Amino acid sequence: MKEPESMDELLFFTNRVVDNGSIKAWICRPPCPKCNKLMGKSINPKTGKVIKKAEDYECPSCGFKQAKADVEKDLRVEVIYKCPYCQHEGETTTEHVRKTWQGVPSFIFECQECGQKIGITKKMKSPKKKK
Ligand SMILES: [Zn+2]
Ligand SMILES: [Zn+2]
Repeated sequence: MKEPESMDELLFFTNRVVDNGSIKAWICRPPCPKCNKLMGKSINPKTGKVIKKAEDYECPSCGFKQAKADVEKDLRVEVIYKCPYCQHEGETTTEHVRKTWQGVPSFIFECQECGQKIGITKKMKSPKKKK
């Protein structure tokens, strides 16, 4: 597995230490079907920032748009891990689907050695803000 060289190629990246193990995971931006440049979520032309809730991915080069659901069904989460359960070190990929893992929406992969499910939460749990 080739590790990403630049954050610019990625939609998601995490590198974290968990109890007795570690997880590095990322999702590469998909190439544009028209011109092969990397697509990203649509950008708000007023602010120049990514629209987090955008329903489309857009090619910054040719402007080709594709629905988020169509793009994300083909994305893979690439994972390099040290299993917190059996200490196995390996690499795997998992589908770009968030499922509930320990009550938190996460990408889930299985340890290839012991078969335990390991969740990659989107964000580390942070202390809840006071309301
Ligand atoms: Zn394009
Ligand atoms: Zn394991």
